[in-house]
Amino acid sequence: MKTPFITKAKAEEIISKYPTPFHIYDEAGIRKNARDLYKAFSWNKGYREFFAVKATPNPYILNILKEEGCGVDCSSLTELMMSECCGFSGSDIMFSSNVTPEEDMKKAFELGAFINLDDITHIEFLENLCGLPETVFCRFNPGGHFELENKIMDDPGDAKYGFTREQLFEGFRILKAKGVKYFGIHAFLASNTVTNNYYPKLAKILFELAVELKNETGADIRYINLSGGVGVSYLPDVPQNDIFAIGEGVHKAFDEILVPAGMGNVALFTELGRYMLAPYGHLVTKCIHQKHIYKEYIGCDACACNLMRPAMYGSYHHITVLGKEDAPCDHKYDVTGGLCENNDKFAIDRMLPEINKGDILVIHDTGAHGFAMGYNYNGKLRSAELLLKEDGSVQLIRRAETPSDYFRTFDFTGILDKYIEK
Ligand SMILES: *Cc1c(COP(=O)(O)O)cnc(C)c1O
Repeated sequence: MKTPFITKAKAEEIISKYPTPFHIYDEAGIRKNARDLYKAFSWNKGYREFFAVKATPNPYILNILKEEGCGVDCSSLTELMMSECCGFSGSDIMFSSNVTPEEDMKKAFELGAFINLDDITHIEFLENLCGLPETVFCRFNPGGHFELENKIMDDPGDAKYGFTREQLFEGFRILKAKGVKYFGIHAFLASNTVTNNYYPKLAKILFELAVELKNETGADIRYINLSGGVGVSYLPDVPQNDIFAIGEGVHKAFDEILVPAGMGNVALFTELGRYMLAPYGHLVTKCIHQKHIYKEYIGCDACACNLMRPAMYGSYHHITVLGKEDAPCDHKYDVTGGLCENNDKFAIDRMLPEINKGDILVIHDTGAHGFAMGYNYNGKLRSAELLLKEDGSVQLIRRAETPSDYFRTFDFTGILDKYIEK
């Protein structure tokens, strides 16, 4: 079962101050989860999580994770700028980008971030732009299919990221000849995995590769970055990943492969986004209309601009009608937003308790890749983001957009002035 972290009474109290729709995050949940992750990898001396900023780019969230010991994983200039302003610097920052613009690369270099190259041509690109740092990471793409438990999880062979195996060996030789001292390797082979075997399997691949790279190129490999991809179960009846089992699975591969090769001092990094935040965010929305035509529709004041995943990927997000947690789910609804797009549906043919106008709906697991993927189609405005603090109080951590924000980038002096605040 999925239980919201706010009650109906709490939601009503919040809504009296901050109208729906909004995203709200659960500080206590975020902190406990981060602590458990660190416990699960405490056997590895240099272990660190670099939170994937793109999942939830909000300085207040970054600060909470910073207090829990996390660094940040950035892939763009503005993510680097936000991280810089939150006090991350140097080895607190992993820069895992692709199709990297010059100014983004320069900023990462200036901040002293760990730079994770996406392609062999980026060696020259980085060298000509900034020179080469002491430590360089390279992203590996093994090609083909990535399988777990006889099931294809993803197709790295179709993915735009990373070096081929041959390029990785060549790249390490080139970097070494150019004076790079320390090396890291990185791979992201499957997204949102709900199995305790993904990281251990990926670790085995990267650990074996690291031993070969060391033997063949003499590179001093200090870091192995398992990246993101450990997922969360969005479905109420599928069990969540067990981070302690995942940590132990990686530990076993480490002891079997790296330790005997004399590489027991390698530090492991992760770049989790979804796993760190998704369950600790709700999109809270009100039913503003009901419609009875060939199907039963519930119209919400949130839309796909606030949460794109269902429209984009057909993703399931669980829905709780607050105050009706124990009511029978005996009504079949399409739960929709107001975009002029028929895929603007948070749920299709979903069995829910009877929903009335004014009911408050919690859409679960929106803490990662939720607000972040928002957009302004149909002139819809981005919602507020709120933080439910450990003491039960609620803090506005990003205000809702206003029409003035929406019109501000036009340069039709005189035409829209009436709606743009000075
Ligand atoms: C998206 C991304 C992540 C985070 O992925 P999650 O699925 O949210 O864990 C980490 N690293 C890189 C390079 C990414 O592109």
